[in-house]
Amino acid sequence: MAKILVILENAKGKIVGLTRECLSVVQKLAGDLSAEIEGIILGHEIGNLAQEAGKFGVKKVYKVDDAQFDGINILYHVRTIEGLIKEIDPSLVIAGASLYGQELVPRLAARFDKAMFASVNSLTVEDDEYEGIHPLFEEKLFVSMEGSTDELTFATILGGNNPEAEPDDSLSAEVVDFSPVIEELDKRESFVEETVAKVSVDITKAKLLVSGGRGVGSGEKFVVITDAAKALGGEVGASRAAVDAGWVAYDHEIGQTGKTVTPDFYIACGISGAIQHLVGMRNSKTIIVVNTDEEAPIIEIAHYAIIGDLHEVLPELVKKL
Ligand SMILES: Cc1cc2nc3c(=O)[nH]c(=O)nc-3n(C[C@H](O)[C@H](O)[C@H](O)COP(=O)(O)OP(=O)(O)OC[C@H]3O[C@@H](n4cnc5c(N)ncnc54)[C@H](O)[C@@H]3O)c2cc1C
Repeated sequence: MAKILVILENAKGKIVGLTRECLSVVQKLAGDLSAEIEGIILGHEIGNLAQEAGKFGVKKVYKVDDAQFDGINILYHVRTIEGLIKEIDPSLVIAGASLYGQELVPRLAARFDKAMFASVNSLTVEDDEYEGIHPLFEEKLFVSMEGSTDELTFATILGGNNPEAEPDDSLSAEVVDFSPVIEELDKRESFVEETVAKVSVDITKAKLLVSGGRGVGSGEKFVVITDAAKALGGEVGASRAAVDAGWVAYDHEIGQTGKTVTPDFYIACGISGAIQHLVGMRNSKTIIVVNTDEEAPIIEIAHYAIIGDLHEVLPELVKKL
């Protein structure tokens, strides 16, 4: 039976959300290819994460729990996963396109002299051919790549395009301790430390965002946005114009130079819809626009548009929602 090997990225005692998104892609591929899902998890003191992976349909998990993996020295990871690929002979090796996945998977593909589906939004299979869709220029262009399912294939999946796989408590995995390959490493590469940027709020995880733009009018008036976000149980987003004016912190900026968000509800208030803003929010599930200008470009992608002054409309809208 064909095997798909998923690289189970983990941090702070959890399988990361991007790997769970990747697992939802893999579950579909496994059905289409009649393949079994196997996984490798590497780290130090990773507890029962290998067992947890079983709840996402991974049948067998190779676990590497070793002090040398306390941190990301990518060469240890590359050599160990290379050893596993040689041993179990999967047809597809796949990971999330995080910094880790982007460091790791191209190196693996090079070691096996294979091309790869790098940073694709989706990977599907039809008539023994993979198709991967890779976005370019902030999703203004999409490249379709194809490859045979007969060849050993490598892929990384971009975040924000697929749902996270949900755990199923009735499923479990066989866990196999796997010996890491740790050789004398090239001294030019060593793990120094992991630093995490301090962000006051992670708007990419919000299910509802109320976003304010230049149309809000001033920093004092921006409270109408924060009040609405609070009342609706969501977070605050902003256009760059509002951030540049100092009305709201950069952590809240959405768009080309800010965050990409895909909430269930995106309420855009006083935002015109410049392309640099749209690339960061247009995949939101429901877009509601409040704007005085019925020809504002953002209305073209809105599911609902309310033409009016946001300072009057927003408090009313909050009451209704
Ligand atoms: C390289 C580059 C990168 C950029 N990156 C980003 C980015 O990441 N994110 C981003 O957002 N922008 C970005 N921009 C800026 C972008 O081009 C726009 O200038 C910006 O998005 C405009 O912000 P805005 O919609 O809030 O303001 P405006 O374009 O000025 O729009 C204000 C809107 O408010 C409406 N309005 C006014 N008063 C009211 C009222 N009382 N009630 C309701 N509506 C009202 C107006 O009709 C108008 O539609 C970037 C630009 C460049 C060049």
